[in-house]
Parts: sequence; C-alpha cells; structure tokens
Amino acid sequence: MKRLVAGLVALGMAAGVTWGWMDTPPDEVAGAPLRLVAAETLPDGLGAFVKAYVEKNAKVGVELVSLPVDATLPMDEAARAVAEQAAAAEGAEKAVATLVIVASDDARMVSVRPAEGVAVLNVVRLGGKNLARELLDGRAGQEALRELAILLDVASCPFPLCVLRGYADPAELDEMSDNYCPPCFERVRHAMLTRGGHILAIPD
Ligand SMILES: [Zn+2]
Repeated sequence: MKRLVAGLVALGMAAGVTWGWMDTPPDEVAGAPLRLVAAETLPDGLGAFVKAYVEKNAKVGVELVSLPVDATLPMDEAARAVAEQAAAAEGAEKAVATLVIVASDDARMVSVRPAEGVAVLNVVRLGGKNLARELLDGRAGQEALRELAILLDVASCPFPLCVLRGYADPAELDEMSDNYCPPCFERVRHAMLTRGGHILAIPD
C-alpha cells in the first residue's frame, strides 16, 4: 500500500511537471522565426509545402528562403555555409534555428547540430527518385517536425501516436502520426517561447 501511495504521489508530481509545461498562451506571440532554407534544386513547391506543414502542425513562425546550395560539399558543411549566408543577408531576421533542405548525393538523410542551431534534411534519402510526390511532401514535413524538435532540445517520444517516435526506414513515416502528441507539441511551443521564438495562435 505504501508503495502504491508513493507511486501515486510520484505520478502526481510527474503530472504536475507536465502541467507546468502547459503554460504557453494559445495566442500568437511575436518573435524570431524558424528559418527554412530550401535549396534551389528541390522539386518545385517543396519548400513552400514544408513551411506550411510546420506552421500548421507546430504552430511556429517559419521564414522561407530559397538559395543555391554547394553540392560539392558534405551536406552539413554546405548547410552551415548556406545558413550563415541566409543569416547575413540584408534585412534578415534573427532566427531561433535554421533548417536547410537539400537534394544531395550524400548518403545521410539528416544531420542536426543543436549547438549550432542548424539542421539539414536530404530529401533524396526520403525514398528515392520514384517516390510519389505526395509521399515525398509528407515525409519531408514529418522530418521537418522531428528536426525542429531536436534543434529545440525536445527529446524523442515513446508514444506510438507521435511523430517523434523512432523509426528505421523512411517508408514507416507514411504510417506514422503526421504531428506531435499534445505534450510534445507543448514542449516545442515552450522551447520556442523560451528562445524568443515566434509562435502562432491555436487554433488559427
Ligand atoms: Zn510525443
């Protein structure tokens, strides 16, 4: 019985911590965006799709820019260079982090460097050249949510109905949730706010 009570107290404390996270306002709060840099070699409209996907699901402000990305560099070096270029552009806002989307021959699909605030997604590794466009769009959107979470130091999630759960093959993304579970959504929102980021209203 004592163990049960102790367990319930621990559960209550854990729930209290959860409620503590649920402290972000439902309204829009102005701030720094997530900068999305789309390589010019991407399929038409993919950058705009990912921007809309992240804004709809993560409810964070996204600034989209399209730039040439040096395909001769390893993809994370190329991403770092283009992120610096975007940040130094005239009139560029300060961003919370930068997500670069490329189509690269690099063998890796993602590289995320939270300490630098830069992540890169290689859409070639999301399923190959013959992948149907709507599957490519969806997988890129889901991966953008995953990389945003890592950039904000939000851990992976064991909940099966969360886009942050682990997977082995990109094709599994098609069967996975297209969004964060509510606690992960709140953690991302909280992390954006903490970093002076732009959050959007819930609902629109
Ligand atoms: Zn989750």
